[in-house]
Amino acid sequence: MTQALTEIIHIPAIAPENAGEGELRKAEKLLQLLKTIGFDKIEFFYAEDNRVPSKRRPNIIAYCDGENEAERLWIITHLDVVPSGEESLWTVTKPFEPIIKEGRIYGRGSEDNGQSMIASIYAVKALKSLGIRPKRAVVLAFVADEEQGSRYGIQHLIKQDLFKKDDLIIVPDGGNENGSFIEIAEKSALWFRIRTIGKQTHASRPHKGLNAHRIGMQYAIALDKLLHEKYSFKDEYFDPPESTFEPTKKDKNVDAVNIVPGEDITCFDCRILPNYNLEEILNDIYRLATKFEKETNATMKIEILQKNVAPKPTDANAKIVQMLREAIIKLRGIEPKVGGIGGGTCAAFFRKIGVPAVVWSTIDETAHQPNEYAKIENLINDTKIYASIMVS
Ligand SMILES: [Zn+2]
Repeated sequence: MTQALTEIIHIPAIAPENAGEGELRKAEKLLQLLKTIGFDKIEFFYAEDNRVPSKRRPNIIAYCDGENEAERLWIITHLDVVPSGEESLWTVTKPFEPIIKEGRIYGRGSEDNGQSMIASIYAVKALKSLGIRPKRAVVLAFVADEEQGSRYGIQHLIKQDLFKKDDLIIVPDGGNENGSFIEIAEKSALWFRIRTIGKQTHASRPHKGLNAHRIGMQYAIALDKLLHEKYSFKDEYFDPPESTFEPTKKDKNVDAVNIVPGEDITCFDCRILPNYNLEEILNDIYRLATKFEKETNATMKIEILQKNVAPKPTDANAKIVQMLREAIIKLRGIEPKVGGIGGGTCAAFFRKIGVPAVVWSTIDETAHQPNEYAKIENLINDTKIYASIMVS
């Protein structure tokens, strides 16, 4: 399993939005592995995308027949990974040169989503090796484009009508360090970019221009305060229990210290509890921008990058929640908590179409960070949970 995971990590699968070539090479490598396991059927579903060299984004579905073919258990993992980020922060190994050290496998994509991908495959392999037929059909899906919104991935598969209302769906793309959290709900997501336009000038004569950087920062700080104060409701069902409003990406402005920037760009990532209305929040964002425009003479443009209203949560009593819960109690002796997180996985798209889906895995939450790793112990123990669900 560790060998399989390192081989998978070795091939980057980065979205064209981040100057990557997509997932095809990685999908081809994965196919080699899948062919050795003995699945009953393997299918490819390509989504056309002219931005990548191969012009297509791959989605693979591997089927394993079960005793009751009418019922299907899906485990859905994603092929794509986020870029390395600042390479110098990778002190253990380079992002795509995985190594095994002190029981951990380091590399970009090791935790997100390689660990669960390999675990789902080896759960099937274990049953096959032992000659055990799963209770119901087991279907593993390996999808593209999760990190950029899933248009070419799970959304493409949903459009092909592959899913049924009574499918049992696990999306192991989130979790905590002992696997005691089953995610069934998520927050709404609101991402936006604030473009502040002033007038560029020499820094020794700032009165000749209008410093967009200062105004942009002041706006960001004022907005940060307003949103946190006004939308401060806490729901203990969620982790973290409050809505989050984070100034994140800051675009580069001028090249020299002695230039007053004429343009400033800051982005916010907000994860909002479902009781709040996104339109009301957006109105506050626009209103504050208009106030700043009047006071400073700068132009403020708000561009929405993502606006996703949280779907109705999966029922805490849904069969898949109970199956997972029982497996965790049986194999780990702990009672898992069922609740919500910041969100943004493939599970949201299932909830939107009314198919119950759970997000679960055992991870140290190193995804998207330098020195991302997967613990071998978690890799093995999560495999056991999947295998247990497959036969129960
Ligand atoms: Zn992920």
